[in-house]
Amino acid sequence: MNKKLLRELPKVDDLLLDSRLVSAVREFGRKPVLKSTRSALDCARQSILNGQIDGDRLVLDDIVMSILEGVARDSQMSLKPVINATGVVLHTNLGRAPLAPAVWRAVSEIACQYNTLEYDVASGGRGARYSHVESLICEITGAEAALVVNNNAAAMMLILSALAKGGEVVVSRGELVEIGGSFRVPEIMAQSGAELREVGTTNKTHLRDYAAAIGAEKSAMLLKVHTSNYRIVGFTEEVTLTQLVELGRAHDLPVVYDLGSGLIEGFDSPLFESEISVLESLASGVDVVSFSGDKLLGGPQAGIVVGRRDLIEKMKMHPLMRAFRIDKLTLAALEATLRIYRDADEAKLTVPILQMLTMSEGQLSDRAAKLYALLKDVEPHCDIAIETGTSQVGGGSMPTVEMATSLIALRPKAMSVHALQTALRTVAKPIVTRAFNDCVYLDVRTIAESDYDSIVGSIVKILNEKRK
Ligand SMILES: *Cc1c(COP(=O)(O)O)cnc(C)c1O
Repeated sequence: MNKKLLRELPKVDDLLLDSRLVSAVREFGRKPVLKSTRSALDCARQSILNGQIDGDRLVLDDIVMSILEGVARDSQMSLKPVINATGVVLHTNLGRAPLAPAVWRAVSEIACQYNTLEYDVASGGRGARYSHVESLICEITGAEAALVVNNNAAAMMLILSALAKGGEVVVSRGELVEIGGSFRVPEIMAQSGAELREVGTTNKTHLRDYAAAIGAEKSAMLLKVHTSNYRIVGFTEEVTLTQLVELGRAHDLPVVYDLGSGLIEGFDSPLFESEISVLESLASGVDVVSFSGDKLLGGPQAGIVVGRRDLIEKMKMHPLMRAFRIDKLTLAALEATLRIYRDADEAKLTVPILQMLTMSEGQLSDRAAKLYALLKDVEPHCDIAIETGTSQVGGGSMPTVEMATSLIALRPKAMSVHALQTALRTVAKPIVTRAFNDCVYLDVRTIAESDYDSIVGSIVKILNEKRK
């Protein structure tokens, strides 16, 4: 331990007289600078005590620099944009679906001004919050009625509470899904006050299994759950929606489909051939379908319920409806997203999620070539190559689908792959990557071209700093 250095540590007030810290106080306010000064001094004291700082003199400049860095770091928004270079299109940890520019404009216009959230301009009286989107949802899906809540988990909770509380809900044992760790069919069921009646087995459930479970006084609903984040393969059998609808009709029981992923239609893309859409589900005659707003629909977080008017009305009257209601920003984003869907071709081209998912291999390799060319200058410090690989849909959707993509492979010469990956996450606009085979990979499918300069700048900076 160096006692001389400890004695040289300045007092907080003296340190704050430094001209750089005086300007920092002007820019960020006194409290944040004070907080950062204290923690920088604590840190310096610790480093002296454990011998990390040693020598004749204390370098005050180092302390001032660390205070300034601390204040700058602390003044940044915690929720901030990142570059998703993972190729996972619906990355739940990275905010699922990025919104289209037109959608963002609609949100920003509503955010800072009074608006017609619950106001009817024609009559000058109270309007209905959901009137802005319900008819659009019906127009796009062909449904009779619709409602919107916070997310699909809330939608399921509402459906079960309003239509099946105290009764039995029949579900196949092959469809008792868990999504994202906290949405679990048996638990949602218990919370809603409905009773889960499991039928069939993990791999095979027959129509006769459902038939045997209903007919009792307590039967309230037939529920089918889309196994959106897993597939059961091999010797399997499941009952189709159409078959369930027939059975439900015969016993006067509502048939509900938790579709989850919310692909509106197939958009003539081979990618979506294996994924059931909202239009297909409704065409089967099912009474109620529910899905997320921020999965394959590509909108804001929301839970959308469509189907039979009398059932939707019942849900709207339920007290949970108020607890699950969405705010004006979500509503603006949802309305603007749905407006794009009025023209399916337009949607395929402008909804970012659909754009990324349906990108052709030619487009992907062009993008990779462009990014590769910009990265040429870093070649002396890092091997760079364009490789083919696969991207994933993500967000608990289409788990077995792998889409061919183009990757930029970075193999740094003077640092480890792990160190490069970490450094890429700590730049001003963090870059989230995948690493395997001794390389860091950038999947161009999920990277906006407008981020190329930022990526190149960050990589150059990281590799140059490493060389020093
Ligand atoms: C994603 C999903 C949910 C949960 O939806 P959130 O909008 O994330 O709450 C529920 N059920 C299914 C089948 C899903 O795919």
